[in-house]
Amino acid sequence: MDEPDPDMPLASTSPPSHMTPDEFRQHGRAVIDWIADYWERIESLPVASTVQPGDIRAMLPDAAPDEPEPFEHLLADLDRVVLPGVTHWQHPGWFAYFPANNSPPSVLADTVSAGLGLIGLLWSASPALTEIESHVLDWLVDLTGLPEGWKTTAAGGGVLQGSASDATHVALVAARHRAAERSGQPATQMVAYTSAQAHSSVEKSANVAGFGHVRLIEVDEHQAMRPHALAVSVGADLAAGLVPAFVGSTVGTTGTTAVDPVRAIADVAIGHSLWHHVDAAYAGTAMICPEFRHHNDGMELVDSYVFNPHKWMMVNFDCSALYVSDKAALTDALSIDPPYLRNTQSDAGNVIDYRNWQVPLGRRFRALKLWWVLRSYGASGIRQMVRHHVAMAQEFAQRLSTDDRFEIVAPHPFSLVCFRCRAADGSDAAAEAADRATDAVAAAVNDSGVAYLTPSKLDGRSIIRVAVGQSRTDRAQMDMLWKLISEAAV
Ligand SMILES: *Cc1c(COP(=O)(O)O)cnc(C)c1O
Repeated sequence: MDEPDPDMPLASTSPPSHMTPDEFRQHGRAVIDWIADYWERIESLPVASTVQPGDIRAMLPDAAPDEPEPFEHLLADLDRVVLPGVTHWQHPGWFAYFPANNSPPSVLADTVSAGLGLIGLLWSASPALTEIESHVLDWLVDLTGLPEGWKTTAAGGGVLQGSASDATHVALVAARHRAAERSGQPATQMVAYTSAQAHSSVEKSANVAGFGHVRLIEVDEHQAMRPHALAVSVGADLAAGLVPAFVGSTVGTTGTTAVDPVRAIADVAIGHSLWHHVDAAYAGTAMICPEFRHHNDGMELVDSYVFNPHKWMMVNFDCSALYVSDKAALTDALSIDPPYLRNTQSDAGNVIDYRNWQVPLGRRFRALKLWWVLRSYGASGIRQMVRHHVAMAQEFAQRLSTDDRFEIVAPHPFSLVCFRCRAADGSDAAAEAADRATDAVAAAVNDSGVAYLTPSKLDGRSIIRVAVGQSRTDRAQMDMLWKLISEAAV
């Protein structure tokens, strides 16, 4: 088009007016004050939001503002509009799901990351973003006792993903690539295996990656995968002409923190050239304490491993660490080199380009918050937190096991305890009564506003999950929780 569009304003345009640096300083301080005040009073707020669907939207205007609003109005609406619709994950009475802890250094680092506003699509797009990430993930190999070969300085390497689900998806894509090279078969012929207790993200990622088949392998009485059942399933699929390509083990399942026998599963995986991925999303943080590392037995035999510093390591969401034993397996599956991303350092193979280790191109500076948390607390501070949580969870389990109204339904090697109200006898009627009693205990705790836990099911029966991992939780909250449970149970 040669002729300028007569309707387009040209010479008269100018940039919008931004906050001045001084206004930014002033509002920035107000925001930090707001967060500090929030943390200070968080225990006085009801843990779970009680709004009804649509309540929050009803407080918002129909149309976006055409004219600028003063910042004070935005801040005021945090209290008026946002807080009523907030369920407080940072509340010390948080026992639901798993924790998603933040911490002051992590929040400050994420603020700096936003201020820098980088997109680390290539090493050269901001070398510090990539090199700090590689280096801090190498630190974590030593800190959590992972195989030496997983360091970026060795054959393997670590990369931060947005979530464990993303990490597992990437592992499945690499597994698919490897199996296709080996078998010449399409993904529709490939099979992914994981246990019936694995996180739903494994099955979902296998579907997204185009796997034709997903097998949920049966678990034993401790909710851990049966390696023999895996071997039988793989054998049947081979006999049917399918291509077994991936197995996902879990160290610390979401349901009960069961630990799959990684070494025995690795035997099957290696025997049949399956990509072996380990999901330690929650429990991975515990490995910073040597006394938990026996749960990671056999890890030197697997292809990939994920754990979430954004769950239990005081690094706020999102920060999920994926490790591979062979970095080429990822980059072979995920590299594409359009001309606009070519550059000397990448072409010479001198640098890591993390875009080839993940699905998206763009990535933000997540490593900053991990680096700041590790430096602010030190490994000793994180070990102290983990041990405090595990000790409180074990004390809580002790209380349950010495009260014959309750029964613990699964091993509790970390800081999640699952229990239910005990049935009077072995009859179906007693089991149903126990389910109702368990549901009633969960409802009473969750209605209290001072503690929040997750009612769930195991083998079709009602259970309660108590995840002791919020970084502010102390014995006062544990006592409160026990009192609520004890008073609600018949
Ligand atoms: C929480 C959890 C996940 C999901 O983590 P995201 O980071 O939210 O995707 C996956 N696996 C296990 C075992 C989990 O506990």
